[in-house]
Amino acid sequence: MTDYPHLLAPLDLGFVTLKNRVLMGSMHTGLEERGDWARVAAFYGERARGGAGLIVTGGMAPNPEGGVFPGAAGLFSADDIANHRIVTDRVHAEGGRIAMQILHAGRYAYGPDCVGPSAIKSPISPFPPRELDEAGIEKQIADIATAAARARDAGYDGVEVMGSEGYFLNQFLVTQTNRRTDRWGGSYENRMRLPLEVVRRVRAAVGADFIVIYRLSMIDLVPDGSSFEEVVNLAQRVEQAGATILNTGIGWHEARVPTIATSVPRGGFAWVTQKLMGQVTIPVITSNRINTPDLGERLLAQGCADMVSMARPFLADPAFVAKAASGRAAEIAPCIACNQACLDHTFSGKVSTCLVNPRACHETELSLTPAEVSKRIAVVGAGPAGLAAALGAAERGHSVTLFEGADRIGGQLNLAASIPGKEEFRGLIAWYETMLARRGVDLRLGTRARAQDLRGFDGVVVATGVTPRDPGIAGQDLPHVHSYVEVLAGTAQTGPRVAIVGAGGIGFDVAEFLVTGDSPTLDAAAWRAEWGVADPAIHRGGLAPAGPQPVPPLRQVTMLQRKAGKPGRHLGKTTGWIHRATLKMKGVRMVSGVNYERITPEGIEISHGPDRRDPALIGADTVVLCAGQVPMRGLADDLAAQGTVCHVIGGADVATELDAKRAIDQGTRLAAIL
Ligand code: NAP
Ligand code: SF4
Repeated sequence: MTDYPHLLAPLDLGFVTLKNRVLMGSMHTGLEERGDWARVAAFYGERARGGAGLIVTGGMAPNPEGGVFPGAAGLFSADDIANHRIVTDRVHAEGGRIAMQILHAGRYAYGPDCVGPSAIKSPISPFPPRELDEAGIEKQIADIATAAARARDAGYDGVEVMGSEGYFLNQFLVTQTNRRTDRWGGSYENRMRLPLEVVRRVRAAVGADFIVIYRLSMIDLVPDGSSFEEVVNLAQRVEQAGATILNTGIGWHEARVPTIATSVPRGGFAWVTQKLMGQVTIPVITSNRINTPDLGERLLAQGCADMVSMARPFLADPAFVAKAASGRAAEIAPCIACNQACLDHTFSGKVSTCLVNPRACHETELSLTPAEVSKRIAVVGAGPAGLAAALGAAERGHSVTLFEGADRIGGQLNLAASIPGKEEFRGLIAWYETMLARRGVDLRLGTRARAQDLRGFDGVVVATGVTPRDPGIAGQDLPHVHSYVEVLAGTAQTGPRVAIVGAGGIGFDVAEFLVTGDSPTLDAAAWRAEWGVADPAIHRGGLAPAGPQPVPPLRQVTMLQRKAGKPGRHLGKTTGWIHRATLKMKGVRMVSGVNYERITPEGIEISHGPDRRDPALIGADTVVLCAGQVPMRGLADDLAAQGTVCHVIGGADVATELDAKRAIDQGTRLAAIL
């Protein structure tokens, strides 16, 4: 008897049966654009082997004008078909099924050739779209249908028509983006015409025995978005037009509501999909912030959907389903929804990977294969770099001893886990605990290894981490001045007015910690109120008319930085705006371009510019130092003096711009060659 009877139940689609209810959702990885199709095949092949019931590829453009950026991958020619065949053959050889997503970006296409229903620029793109005429619309529909036919020729089991997230099809549905007065605009019947015609023509192009998923925006989260009556109407008509499955889309890309970030409650939008259940007869998939088999099982058991979609969890662990099915759910590497190595990479033009699993999208060059000779390896420091190195080395069959001075593993991950909205980090620490035990790592907690203790090991890895930088501000020894470590670890008292020195990632985290009471991430109703999310059956687009209703801040916080310019500019590409918006809602004051003159019992005295003008006192009961970090290299220096060769990784190596992504990547890559 499985723990996941709903999740692992087959899904009979009439002409084909999916082996379980888990869809690996579409993600843009950036691999296809690099033209290394063997690498693309290795990526999807590993996920097929890991048991996903149905994989959906990253979005493929039906034509150049519909690509998300110039040069975006698509399926335009016979050559493309041969390339895609490499992928579908591998997936089928691994016992999987794969559908190709057809993504026409419309006005979101990041280039001057973009097209749309009306010439209205999106707020997230500098390029106004060209308004399509009748012939232009016909061309787009024909190109999408041709792409679907080519997908079938390339061996795919189906296609997903991307009709959500504010892309081309979605743009026709909503008056904000469709101001047409011809048969493609005006009434909802007219605005639906394009998506419905696309589904009809796709079905006609691929025949009856081919999966056609339609991804439907069930809550737009933009002003004047669809009403739920329109959503239901569209869903029913899409079914009639020939779709096999309906997938859920949540929010347009331009929405000012987070939809997949780590601070979004787990399964936080399944209630939207549930509203559609019973309104159509084809299977419905729910999506967004589902990252454990237990949650997937619960959502299906509660009748929220017929199937669940998880995308990023398959970057974190390709064997998600296989582990769940074999009683090893605790071994699933958790996606913590950080976006740091996946979406942030995509939006920087880099290949996606995963903070938790650096092998993601690097399957052909980073392998933890069994070592020819098993060595005795000492790893010092159980923060992210040390954990990754220890686990990777143990996976390869080395005998690993992991020394940690604290009484628990995790290092700086423990500080991250204490921030409201970053609770997912707890799951990552728990996963490392499980895996260290399963791989037989000899964990020595509360043990500060000295250089002489490390003689006799075949390899020594120093991952001793970082220590807070001393900013050297006059008065910093006063009793109301604390480092971020003391504040986040709960060993320092903080008063009602706090000044934070330093507005980097940790300064932002500390500010969120200080202004937030109960974490809205753990209370879905509170989170919806905080971001102004409403029932789309009551308010069009699912936006509350009163807007966000944040809980008042616990403290009055001022953040300071020396450089000029907006604080938080270097936060994550896809998540920085959420942190900035959260602190703005909580009334956090941010002051840039300051000199720190001195800290006094009354607060912190600052001035501005090289001429130290405009002196001012920032009144504060507590001052928190978040001025960056420096490497802890004492052990590495002692080892060098002793003549012991060692590998220095993580913050002990380079503290500047250190994050868990770099630390885990470096630890894993070292383990691969030890
Ligand atoms: P950071 O991002 O480098 O920020 C350090 C802050 O300290 C800056 O605001 C800097 O601004 C200030 N500073 C530097 N030297 C100083 C000095 N001598 N005196 C006074 N202020 C000084 O470092 P962090 O905040 O410690 O974060 C560490 C790493 O973790 C970063 O790479 C960060 O990306 C990552 N992280 C990210 C997040 C997130 O994205 N949400 C959260 C946590 C951590 P000025 O020099 O202008 O004063
Ligand atoms: Fe999940 Fe972060 Fe990995 Fe992306 S980088 S898949 S969000 S853990």
